[in-house]
Amino acid sequence: MLKEMNVELPVLPTTVIGSYPRPRWLVYAVKLYRAGRIGVEELREAFDDAVQAVVREQEEAGIDIPSDGEMRRDDMVEYFAERIRGFRFYGPVRVWGNNFFNKPAVVSRLVYEKPIVVEEFQYLRRVSSRRVLKVTVTGPYTIADWSYNEYYPSKEDLVFELAKIINSEIKRLEEAGALFVQVDEPALTTSPKEMEWAIDAVNEVTKGVNIKLGIHICYGNYELLANYFDRLRFSQLALEFANRGFRDIGILDRLGDKEVGLGVIDVHSRRVETPEEVAKALNKAFKYVKPEQIYVNPDCGLKLLPRKIARAKLENMVRGVEIVRKELRERGLDRIPLKR
Ligand SMILES: [Zn+2]
Repeated sequence: MLKEMNVELPVLPTTVIGSYPRPRWLVYAVKLYRAGRIGVEELREAFDDAVQAVVREQEEAGIDIPSDGEMRRDDMVEYFAERIRGFRFYGPVRVWGNNFFNKPAVVSRLVYEKPIVVEEFQYLRRVSSRRVLKVTVTGPYTIADWSYNEYYPSKEDLVFELAKIINSEIKRLEEAGALFVQVDEPALTTSPKEMEWAIDAVNEVTKGVNIKLGIHICYGNYELLANYFDRLRFSQLALEFANRGFRDIGILDRLGDKEVGLGVIDVHSRRVETPEEVAKALNKAFKYVKPEQIYVNPDCGLKLLPRKIARAKLENMVRGVEIVRKELRERGLDRIPLKR
């Protein structure tokens, strides 16, 4: 059973998955920094300014629960691996086409030396007007899956070790005042044979944590995942539906009393969804879950879209939610408690 926290949100809270397009000038600033032409202080200032810009943009679009857009992170795995002792980088590997990924290798026992994203959260809190904010952390399975394991006897051992580290990080976020942390696990369903222990491992990150925890799984096999819904110790599952034309929305039938972060915006298409399409998607979801169980978000991070399109998509997402909220208000449903 989910527990109510002492914070209220509008019904159908609107949020993002995490990443947001970097302002063009920030892309240039990062290049200048890499070329040694600006220093770390100037880069930090650019990151701070970019966070302010994209938080404001989300808030102006009407997003209830913004993120910092992951402005400081080049890559969701690399960023964490760089900040955990025991990883080493041999150089970029080609992942698809002409895209390169700086694949980390685990070369010694992993040690959680210092907070990874706590300062990101603290800065976000300073610049946002919203009470509830979303902080994303990359999950242990995905970090392991996208790394070379040159130290632990098995992938399973590595994932459980990483889970302890991510659990420590979430506890530090809780101490710093975070109310909502989302664990990103895009790789979770990619090896069906590993699912049994992978679910136990991701649950490890929730141990002793008393704030809201969500898990985001995209591009996955949702039929397979649905078999594990009841075992996942997260109050919310943020899933993609728009890109698949809402074909597998029926899996929400098996959600129990958990919440869904309903993906209603396709991040792989530059076409801006209409508010009516968003409203229609919500009404589809109401066949399987109560309105009180739904948060509304894009399918995934928006970072690969042009910034203007990302903003337009968020604006229309909120307009679509407003259409449905009006109907819900007439039925007396206006606000919901944050639950964990
Ligand atoms: Zn995603």
